[in-house]
Amino acid sequence: MKDLVKKFGNITAVSSVNIDVDSGEFMTLLGPSGCGKTTILSMILGILEPTSGSISFDGQVISQTPMNKRDVGMVFQNYALFPHMTVAQNVAFGLDMRKVPKEEKERRVKQVLEMVQLSDLAARFPKELSGGQQQRVALARALVIRPKVLLLDEPLSNLDAKLRKEMRIQLKRLHEEVGITTIYVTHDLEEALSLSTKVAVMSKGIVRQIGSPQEIFLQPKNHFVANFVGYGNFIHGKLKKEIDKYFVFEADKGFTLRVRKNGHHRVGDSVILTIKPENVKIVGEKEEGANCIKGKVLISDYVGSTTSYEILSEKGDILKVNVLGLEPLPQNHTINLYLAPESLLILDKE
Ligand code: ATP
Repeated sequence: MKDLVKKFGNITAVSSVNIDVDSGEFMTLLGPSGCGKTTILSMILGILEPTSGSISFDGQVISQTPMNKRDVGMVFQNYALFPHMTVAQNVAFGLDMRKVPKEEKERRVKQVLEMVQLSDLAARFPKELSGGQQQRVALARALVIRPKVLLLDEPLSNLDAKLRKEMRIQLKRLHEEVGITTIYVTHDLEEALSLSTKVAVMSKGIVRQIGSPQEIFLQPKNHFVANFVGYGNFIHGKLKKEIDKYFVFEADKGFTLRVRKNGHHRVGDSVILTIKPENVKIVGEKEEGANCIKGKVLISDYVGSTTSYEILSEKGDILKVNVLGLEPLPQNHTINLYLAPESLLILDKE
């Protein structure tokens, strides 16, 4: 996808998107509702035309190619199975459209139904299937035409939590077996991390970061991505000086923190420090010195294995803290927090 733009009137749904997907890759578009994920899939499938920019397969621009000549398979969020057709007929549909001879058709339907473990249910109708089974029929129907690219638009979103996890594992196994280039859309972080070889995090039509699941999770590059992967605390300020492997950071509100160097930052940069709520430690009241912040409990939210706190610091910042298995502290309780220099991540201001 090169400089891909899609506008609906004065709404820019997709804004200058550049993404390369390698052959055999499992690429996920991850982002909140309305960020442009489905619009991108629709342009790859060919039901929407880009306003500008282009999409190429193997070096050939296909954004003007008719949909039926693109070799793309798609599984929609609601599966869109034909209710009056059996499982086998649903799966055979794309082959009928392509006038594939009967014997070859039967062979391919049989093969793909085995792959998704539905051979025993070939004669059933969609309404006689569970959600997970319907989802596998939809997958089989897309796979049987052997597309160059498989597009999956939140295919697990209609399933309950347990089935979702099971199907996720099956999907992963299937991708490893078949090796088909897949573009997957979800707003679920865990799903994206578990399935993908590459993740593009999006908001408001813009790709905010592309990388491996580990890069996205451990080295978010900006505020949006950090927030999306669970960094709850953001402190604005400046890098004042360096001492060995550390910077001394001065917050806009006047306190200092030590932070281990990471990335490309230099003394003088205006930056944002971020830390995950589970990495903020509660320490004894008497502990003083570097990277300790005093505050009091505003809110405590006890959910069994962890308690989530919102702490109001002396300087007026609100810090989120998650603590494992501790007796919950009451409101207004004074508390001393430690932000380890190794747990803090430096983000660019913009
Ligand atoms: P979701 O996760 O909710 O499906 P999404 O990330 O797939 O969201 P899109 O469906 O691509 O988001 O929509 C992107 C933006 O474009 C949204 O603001 C949406 O309201 C707008 N949009 C999508 N289709 C149209 C349309 N046909 N006409 C006008 N605006 C549209």
